[in-house]
Amino acid sequence: MTMTKQQEIVVFFTGGTIGMSPAEGVTGVAPNDNFHELLNQFKPQEANVTLRPVLWSDKPSPHMTPDDMFRLALDVEKTLVEPSVAGAVILHGTDTLAETAYMCDMVIASDKPVILTGSMRYYSESGYDGIRNLANTVRACLLPLPPGIGACILMTDRIFAAREAVKVNSLNVDAFESREAGVVGYVAGESVVLARRYSTPTPRRGLHPEAIEERVPLLTAYTGMDRSLIDHCRSLGSKGIVIEGFGAGNVPPTIATALEECLSDNIPVVLATRCIEGGVWPIYGYPGGGADLESKGVILCGRLGGPKARIRLICALGMTSDMRKIRQIFSEA
Ligand code: ASP
Repeated sequence: MTMTKQQEIVVFFTGGTIGMSPAEGVTGVAPNDNFHELLNQFKPQEANVTLRPVLWSDKPSPHMTPDDMFRLALDVEKTLVEPSVAGAVILHGTDTLAETAYMCDMVIASDKPVILTGSMRYYSESGYDGIRNLANTVRACLLPLPPGIGACILMTDRIFAAREAVKVNSLNVDAFESREAGVVGYVAGESVVLARRYSTPTPRRGLHPEAIEERVPLLTAYTGMDRSLIDHCRSLGSKGIVIEGFGAGNVPPTIATALEECLSDNIPVVLATRCIEGGVWPIYGYPGGGADLESKGVILCGRLGGPKARIRLICALGMTSDMRKIRQIFSEA
């Protein structure tokens, strides 16, 4: 008789709508101590799987800081070292879930599955999506996920790579997309299956920093923008700046000089785009154009998007302040 090996999945609860409900004395829904009751409602169908709950925090995800994300990633990594642990599920508010997922992607070296999920409907709301997302995420942890895929997100029956997914809808249960990259896998009935493109492994692009630098603001360019916000960041001691420009990565000429002055002060400037697809490219050579900015030393972050470019810069600055090395770290994104 063959014995199936017992596998443990550690479920880290950080908070979010998945654990929220109307709470006494509060207008609207709020964290309400629902985690253990939520877990009690769910039993994995696989007999060889046990869940180990970890009540890590009960925060709405807009309250999560980069330091929280970093500490969480380190705690998850520590847990994955245990031989009995097959993978980790992280329950998280959806608003900043993609950023925490990307932090896990940067920090965790283990190849065991790390999958984040949440819900768009609160715990006591009709049509609550939390149990289904949790059940499918546990199941996805048992898959042979493609080596190098890194941390993933499972929401509404689809698995995305952390580095590719963004929250695109503020209300709908189908809130996440990897618009240009597509899904890693999906739910089919009682199974979770991999999408065909993942038959060839992609290299993992983690960084594994031992510390992070949180003083990195994310700014969005707007028409007629003057340099005051950038000067303000510099005077506050920002260690790096991420700016979401227009289109393929272009900003008003009025801020180009201020960005150059940051670079002269050894403050790396990373350029992202306000557009939801396409990324940033060195096309335009006029003052403030992407090619002009790149020639002055601004780092173009490709398709990463502003919030994740910020997480990458936060990690990179925890490892080095050498501009060349930071550029190298972004070239591998
Ligand atoms: N505002 C909530 C949060 O991110 C939204 C959610 O969980 O879906 O905590």
